[in-house]
Amino acid sequence: MNKYDLIVIGMGPAGMAAVGMGTKMGLKVLGIEKKAIGGECLNVGCIPSKAILKVARMKHDLGKVEDFGMNLECEAKIKNPLEIVRRQVYAHT
Ligand SMILES: Cc1cc2nc3c(=O)[nH]c(=O)nc-3n(C[C@H](O)[C@H](O)[C@H](O)COP(=O)(O)OP(=O)(O)OC[C@H]3O[C@@H](n4cnc5c(N)ncnc54)[C@H](O)[C@@H]3O)c2cc1C
Repeated sequence: MNKYDLIVIGMGPAGMAAVGMGTKMGLKVLGIEKKAIGGECLNVGCIPSKAILKVARMKHDLGKVEDFGMNLECEAKIKNPLEIVRRQVYAHT
């Protein structure tokens, strides 16, 4: 049977940091995640919310281009900005 020095339950930011520190200390580490690696921050919290804010800010700014003497159509091509985040995150994992 495998023996571990450290078992971390939950691979959100805290658990991933604990795993990283344990590994750097030379410990044999097991990380357990029941749902999605990255936890709330990566999957539904910090990163997706910043992506949604960025899309909203861009749409707002693009909607004002005529004030600056330009002409540009500004239709959203995606229904769900989270799809962009997921595509980017999972393309790099
Ligand atoms: C909309 C939103 C925006 C946010 N924006 C920011 C921000 O800009 N900056 C910031 O610093 N913070 C932000 N946060 C907060 C941030 O997401 C949390 O502080 C952070 O995710 C907490 O990390 P954690 O590792 O403690 O817990 P979590 O991210 O909740 O991770 C816990 C993990 O444990 C797993 N787990 C739980 N029970 C078990 C079990 N029994 N077995 C196996 N796995 C289990 C869960 O599935 C989860 O993956 C935001 C949160 C939200 C909701």
